[in-house]
Amino acid sequence: MEFPAQQIPVVLLILLVVFVAGIGRFLLPAGFIDRTMGVLQGYLFPMRHYQRQILEKSFAYYRQLDVADKRRFERRVVEFLANKEFIPRGGLPVTKETKTLVAACAVQLTLGLPPVRLRHFRKIILYPDAYFSTVNREYHQGEVNAAGAIVLSWKHFMDGYLVPNDSRNVGLHEMAHALLIENRTRYDGEYDFLDGNSLNHFLKCAEAEHGRMQRGEVGLLRKYAQTSPVEFFSVAVEVFFENPETMAAQAPALYNALKDLLKQDPLRLQFSSRT
Ligand SMILES: [Zn+2]
Repeated sequence: MEFPAQQIPVVLLILLVVFVAGIGRFLLPAGFIDRTMGVLQGYLFPMRHYQRQILEKSFAYYRQLDVADKRRFERRVVEFLANKEFIPRGGLPVTKETKTLVAACAVQLTLGLPPVRLRHFRKIILYPDAYFSTVNREYHQGEVNAAGAIVLSWKHFMDGYLVPNDSRNVGLHEMAHALLIENRTRYDGEYDFLDGNSLNHFLKCAEAEHGRMQRGEVGLLRKYAQTSPVEFFSVAVEVFFENPETMAAQAPALYNALKDLLKQDPLRLQFSSRT
């Protein structure tokens, strides 16, 4: 089959698109296309005005950022939402506000890190209130499913932000679980973004704090932290963001370890890197 000379550039362009969309998915590094599309989305489609209004009204962490960090935060929210499917349960309406605030919660946790979109977690399942789990026959406020879903009770998610300093924030708690899973999930190219030395150092500090809790010497973290190392991390993240001053005063080693790991200091709103 022969093409007239003037059609050759068009044919080459079509071949390139087919390559990138199809074969390229297998030949390029894992997650390359997904990552590139997400970054392009963040730059080419800046946050909409209504989303910015939602953040200004309902997200204190965002309100406190300087202008440059606000723009960075907004890009991350857009990127996070690029590959997420929101699945409502129990008649809960999923609105622009719902989506923006869930994304903002993930971005709050990860703003100090290189861009992390929690790509493995494509599904966000939202219940109006605590929901009954048939697995352990208990009511849950949230959970993370290793198959790729973050599940949240919307009532409890909002309570986490409406009461900003009670060291309880189910959104941050579940995002922290998702972060650790994402860090070791390799197929989508988004992994090992947490510094290994910082993670090991955090685990050592967590062990020391766990010992202090068992001896009844401290009451900084709620008892649920003692369930397992991953629960310890999630509970510590809640306190880190909701009561940084208390944590820095009562458990400075733990506070500094989390600060190094997440590369941000909620007490001073400082970031070790600003990518
Ligand atoms: Zn948990």
